[in-house]
Amino acid sequence: MQDKELERYSRHILLPEIEFEGQKKLLQSHCLIVGAGGLGSPVAIYLAASGVGKITICDFDNVDLSNLQRQIIHDENKIGLNKAESAKRALNRINSDIKVIPIKRQLDIDEVMSIAKDVDIIIDCSDNFKTRYALNKIAFDLKLPLISGAAIKFDGQVCVFDFRVHNSVCYNCLFPSEDDEQNLKCSDHGVFSPLVGLVGSIQAGEVIKVLLGIGTSLHGKLLLINHRDIDFKTLKIKKDDLCDICS
Ligand SMILES: [Zn+2]
Repeated sequence: MQDKELERYSRHILLPEIEFEGQKKLLQSHCLIVGAGGLGSPVAIYLAASGVGKITICDFDNVDLSNLQRQIIHDENKIGLNKAESAKRALNRINSDIKVIPIKRQLDIDEVMSIAKDVDIIIDCSDNFKTRYALNKIAFDLKLPLISGAAIKFDGQVCVFDFRVHNSVCYNCLFPSEDDEQNLKCSDHGVFSPLVGLVGSIQAGEVIKVLLGIGTSLHGKLLLINHRDIDFKTLKIKKDDLCDICS
């Protein structure tokens, strides 16, 4: 690490849980962020600022005026631009030393699988069940940690599935039915702006903790947040012995 990097990351290096070795490991890490929207914004910003050396960020959608209420990585000048490209430009303004790879088109499962083979961790910041189930399957097959977040109205959730751990539970154990009808969309129901910041920040924190083995993660647990009444609950996820994916 050069002097400039030692200074940039000094407040991390001061933490006994991270120190020089942990920061070096972050600089050598590659994260896959799926979704550059409400959750992907804080996740990507914190990981870039923290010095995660390589970030691949996927989003096929373009920035829309109605996104700017909460998708803080984008701004008025990016309306109409692809979200992954917009995110890349914002992240490199925060940290020009890291490599950001934007994926701007919709990928099929094989294409995501081939990208995921090169990463250390997958962060699900998507807004639909189809993607969540696909990422769960990919992370399970590749034995990667998956950090999953969701937010709608005033309700948020975060869960971690560390498939490096033998016999881990999975997203499909938690939500077994693949029923796209149950998809709640922000465009139909609304979402409280700071909630996505809260959920995304917790996801970014779990990414760093899981990569560096710090403290206790949400592995195998579901964090439920109600922002309106500021209520936090953590539930243990039970393994489904009949799960199609992990059993
Ligand atoms: Zn399962």
